[in-house]
Amino acid sequence: MIHYDYDLLTIGAGSGGVRASRVAASFGAKVAVAEEKALGGTCVNVGCIPKKLLVYASHYGEDFRDAAGFGWTVGPRSVDWTKLIANKDKEIQRLNGVYGKLLGDAGVEILEGHAQVIDPHTVAMEGKRYTAKYILVAVGSWPSVPKFPGSEHAITSNEAFYLPVLPEKVIVVGGGYIGVEFAGIFHGLGAQTSQFYRGGLFLRGFDEDIRVTLAEEMRKRGIDLRFNTDVIKIEKFNQVLKATLLDGSVVEANEILYATGRVPKTRRLGLEKAGVELSDSGAVIVDPYLRSNVDSIYAIGDCTDRLMLTPVAIAEGMAVANTLFNNKPVRLDYENVATAIFSTPNCGTVGLSEEQARLRNYEIDIYITSFRPLRHTMTGSAEKTMMKLVVDRATDQVLGCHMVGPDAGEIIQGLAVALNCGATKAQFDATIGIHPTAAEEFVTMRTKSTARA
Ligand code: NDP
Repeated sequence: MIHYDYDLLTIGAGSGGVRASRVAASFGAKVAVAEEKALGGTCVNVGCIPKKLLVYASHYGEDFRDAAGFGWTVGPRSVDWTKLIANKDKEIQRLNGVYGKLLGDAGVEILEGHAQVIDPHTVAMEGKRYTAKYILVAVGSWPSVPKFPGSEHAITSNEAFYLPVLPEKVIVVGGGYIGVEFAGIFHGLGAQTSQFYRGGLFLRGFDEDIRVTLAEEMRKRGIDLRFNTDVIKIEKFNQVLKATLLDGSVVEANEILYATGRVPKTRRLGLEKAGVELSDSGAVIVDPYLRSNVDSIYAIGDCTDRLMLTPVAIAEGMAVANTLFNNKPVRLDYENVATAIFSTPNCGTVGLSEEQARLRNYEIDIYITSFRPLRHTMTGSAEKTMMKLVVDRATDQVLGCHMVGPDAGEIIQGLAVALNCGATKAQFDATIGIHPTAAEEFVTMRTKSTARA
């Protein structure tokens, strides 16, 4: 029998890689995980966690303002960016330690440095070679910025988390998750914020009512949202950046954040040499069991360039561990994956959008409500919450739930369980609401709306 140093060698200690390694070890496998940066990967270090902390920080401005409607007197206020970033860094360091402890307690060896795949069972690191029965590629993704004159002056989300000062004026380019989230963060913290998107309406792929409602809400707050535009040139004059747009107009900013997608971080990994097939974007091409075309090499998470979401990477990590070391091959179901955008206000969604349901030839009924949350009856804020259900007319099954409003992610998470159980509209209606909440609207919508053609 061939002897390997490890049963599993995971490359990348992000959310997916760590979970796969720990679960594999719990099944008795001898496991090592290689990491060249901090433990926890994108989510912990420069993604979900620090982003959510900054989102919390950015909401206080509105909360202080709203407090006046409830009788509070709030004195002068300002944001100490240095303190905010330092406190955020302290929490991230704590989490790095937690990840290290979790791996150590599970008996997973941590190998520090850059790993390169030499052949289907061998990884080279820091001048040493390690063999493994299976190699799991969990290297994640990296922000991608288009090349154009002056693009070197742009920053990405990686740098945004470590800016030395809060910029007075910010331009955000890109109309996806990261763009809308950072536009909300910078605006909420007091920066004059513009967001530019090349298409007619941002958040392509989301339900149109989410896209339209969020755009309205962001504009109400004073974010300079511009569609059908793009930056063609950036020039730097001392501390000021000048962005020239498609129409020739020039917008000044102190920072220009590009949030124009992320690409698999598979370069310099040696995968091609080991015979692993990659897509044009560099994604590892995997079968439904997350195995590449090389039998001993698996891949999970962002580096497969499918749903770039932490919980998906974690589920994939557990699936691989079960498939390889628990004799339980797992094939994940990617339908009805709930997701939230931590924009201001939040968006949450699960299941099919109205447009996707039509594309799949469903005859659908639409239920939609838009209302002023109770809290704002006292604050004077014009903020609206939107909730929407997409229902299959033939079976009465709820195909999609969509929301823009405070805590949308928290609310949609619960509804995702219902959708995954195949809940019907009648079952939603038979569910008694919790009063007074915004969420109760999801079980009290009775009037069909005139669906878009
Ligand atoms: P997205 O893919 O979500 O959005 C990229 C945006 O940039 C799109 O609006 C796209 O336009 C635009 N774009 C792409 N290329 C160019 C270009 N060359 N010039 C101008 N605009 C361009 O990427 P993000 O960077 O926002 O996020 C990456 C991934 O991270 C997301 O897909 C998501 O899965 C994950 N993520 C998840 C979060 C969450 O769960 N809350 C939070 C943050 C990230 P178009 O639509 O026209 O292609």
